Amino acid sequence: MRFSSYVEVNLGLLAGNFSAIQNLAPKAEVLPMVKADAYGNGLIPVSQFLVRDCGVKNLGCASLGEAIHLLDECPGLGSNIVVFSDNEISNKKAREAYIGGNVYPVLHQASDLETVLNDKAFQKLPLIFKVNTGMNRLGLSQEDLERFLPHFKARGIHHFMTHFARSGDYLKDGDKTHRQYDEFLRMKKFLTDAGVSIEKTSVSNSGAIEQSFGTRETFVRPGLMLYGPPSVTSPVVWKGHQVSKWVTKVLSSFHVKKGTPVGYGVNVADKDSFMAVLPIGYGDGFMTYYSGSTVYINGIEGKVFGRVNMDMAFIQFDPEAAAKVKKDDQVEIWNHDNSRILEFATQNKTHCYQLMCGISGRIPRIYKVK
Ligand SMILES: *Cc1c(COP(=O)(O)O)cnc(C)c1O
Repeated sequence: MRFSSYVEVNLGLLAGNFSAIQNLAPKAEVLPMVKADAYGNGLIPVSQFLVRDCGVKNLGCASLGEAIHLLDECPGLGSNIVVFSDNEISNKKAREAYIGGNVYPVLHQASDLETVLNDKAFQKLPLIFKVNTGMNRLGLSQEDLERFLPHFKARGIHHFMTHFARSGDYLKDGDKTHRQYDEFLRMKKFLTDAGVSIEKTSVSNSGAIEQSFGTRETFVRPGLMLYGPPSVTSPVVWKGHQVSKWVTKVLSSFHVKKGTPVGYGVNVADKDSFMAVLPIGYGDGFMTYYSGSTVYINGIEGKVFGRVNMDMAFIQFDPEAAAKVKKDDQVEIWNHDNSRILEFATQNKTHCYQLMCGISGRIPRIYKVK
């Protein structure tokens, strides 16, 4: 645990992003993804806020364990929870959760359907499933649809969905996202032509929603954009705010001469420098590969120097920075401006999803409403 190093999660900005999403998809119900600890922002407080303050009725988790944790921590949450991938459908815990109500598995392979159809306990379970339209990860195929058609006719489909592999690309006619959507509509038509009733549908994750694509389906399923960062980056079309701000401080600072070895692995200063030590390292989710990227302290640009330790990291400045960078000064690894976290992600050859999910439990999350 730490005190002066924390992630401040601004729920007011989350609400702003939520309403901007609703404006992009005025006819759809927003089903926010809160998997992976709400993208590192905190499953419980984020879910409670979305339900109570944004009126959300359905939340998306990746695993049954996340859904059960959410229910245990928030009895009477008042929202359904949809488990999108790791549904644990044959697990005893799954039977309790899915029969108890409010938690719904997305079925995504033939064996999931077999389990559900062969178990009397699941007789009333609404059928929610994902079809594979070209992402080739999870999802039923056309052959599966044909094979289970009699069951679909008898039971109806509650929610029919697919997932886009490249919606973060700026859309063009005939691209992967359009082809996936066409395939989704074709599969849907195959089912409805055969007499299957389909109650609800969804296709769009953040990249698609940003471009108002697939937003006439029943639900949209935003993850990343809800927490701030854009998926489409050239050009950026999403005008959300980064909900989290990652704050730390200067633990210590000193001058080094060119040629001085610094820290583990004794990396040698390549020039006379002023070094600031930050009390965050890979044990906090400040990864070793962040070495070389930019960190600003009091507006002065420094570089992550040498080896990032488990508990600390060095920021290298020119010697003149000593006048402006002092022990205990606050440091923002990123702030509420999306362009900063994007810069940090690009420099580290990763994406904002991983930056946010990577912050460990040693860093407290602090919640601010305005
Ligand atoms: C994670 C996920 C989303 C959200 O994706 P983002 O790119 O974060 O918006 C939507 N749908 C499914 C099925 C997902 O697994």
